[in-house]
Amino acid sequence: MSNPAQRANKLFVQTFGTTADDLYLAPGRVNLIGEHTDYNDGFVLPAAINFHTIIAVKRREDDTFRAVSDAFSGDIKTWQFGQEGQPEEQGSWINYLKGFTSALATSGLPAKGLDLAVVGNVPLGAGLSSSAALEIAFGTAVNDCSQLRLSPLAVAQMAQRGENQYVGCACGIMDQMISALGEQDHALLIDCEDLDSEPVPIPESLSLIIINSNVQRGLVESEYNLRREQCEAVANHFGVESLRHVSLGQLEAAKAQLDETAYKRARHVLTENRRTQQASQALASNDIARLSELMAQSHQSMRDDFEITVPAIDQLVEMIDKVIGNQGGVRMTGGGFGGCVVALVDHALTDAVVETVEANYAKATGLEATVYLCSASDGATRLDEDLY
Ligand code: ADP
Ligand code: MG
Repeated sequence: MSNPAQRANKLFVQTFGTTADDLYLAPGRVNLIGEHTDYNDGFVLPAAINFHTIIAVKRREDDTFRAVSDAFSGDIKTWQFGQEGQPEEQGSWINYLKGFTSALATSGLPAKGLDLAVVGNVPLGAGLSSSAALEIAFGTAVNDCSQLRLSPLAVAQMAQRGENQYVGCACGIMDQMISALGEQDHALLIDCEDLDSEPVPIPESLSLIIINSNVQRGLVESEYNLRREQCEAVANHFGVESLRHVSLGQLEAAKAQLDETAYKRARHVLTENRRTQQASQALASNDIARLSELMAQSHQSMRDDFEITVPAIDQLVEMIDKVIGNQGGVRMTGGGFGGCVVALVDHALTDAVVETVEANYAKATGLEATVYLCSASDGATRLDEDLY
């Protein structure tokens, strides 16, 4: 199988009958810790991963965009800059690209058209943010080709705006930011209140493993919206903008006045913010035992206080935890109700983790897991010719 860059060039030539000028790439991501904290103006700690979306592009002199993707065979999708019209049916892949140009147009930024061909190896809908990889690869291409001189953070913000306002998904900024700003061998501690970010080195001794539970995810959107409302209600109770401005002490003191569920939701967010900052320190100081503890506590908090795990995910985490002890950490990652588990473990234990999943997961749940051995990677970039 040819590599993704070659596939992108080939798809471009097959589609448009001419060669592409440039290739742009953006990674998927995994969140190491800090779940459901982003929309509470809190902290998250994602890493970009070595699974990518690649886009081959050729500049046009007019303002027409023409796009194909190997993930969705069919017609070439065409639109004019600033005339994106209504989104196509919900879930259509082209909405992510139109959302970006629409956000640029709304912000008064001009862009020239492009012909483009998309390929990639970020699994779609697996929780590794293929959607942000697509938006950021495209956004980086448009930014560069039209010489808009937006910073990677501004490209991420534009992509989020497109997804919020055009695609119609109330996502936070984490996925776009890490895809744009990731650094090899580092996670990124993001403060979602002011979008300040700081690379955190991942110790060389650790493997980054993602295990997709392949649980069919249901109710995700309604449960997500419900959690957001519950968090907002507690912030309102304290008369502040977000849970970022509530301390654990204040929360405990007000426990009797709060609905029990709302109290537990807020307790998850406040303790998770603290754990996320502490996990950054643990990573930076190579304190794996501490990292192990914090990831375990994060999982428990998602299970018991935020109530977003499901039995198959809990079982997956338990079986891995048994194998790695304090030589690594494991927890559910992502919005919940299925999705993936992330483990950071000593290299020597990688095989044991894969073996325990293979030996026990299907037996316990009737489901087959998919294991991705990853490494923390750089964020979006234009590919130099000598790299492909
Ligand atoms: P996730 O981001 O976790 O992978 P989402 O449902 O948010 O899951 O995003 C998946 C959607 O993103 C796909 O259904 C498709 O619309 C779009 N997408 C992602 N990667 C590609 C690609 N390479 N080509 C076309 N569309 C893509
Ligand atoms: Mg997504």
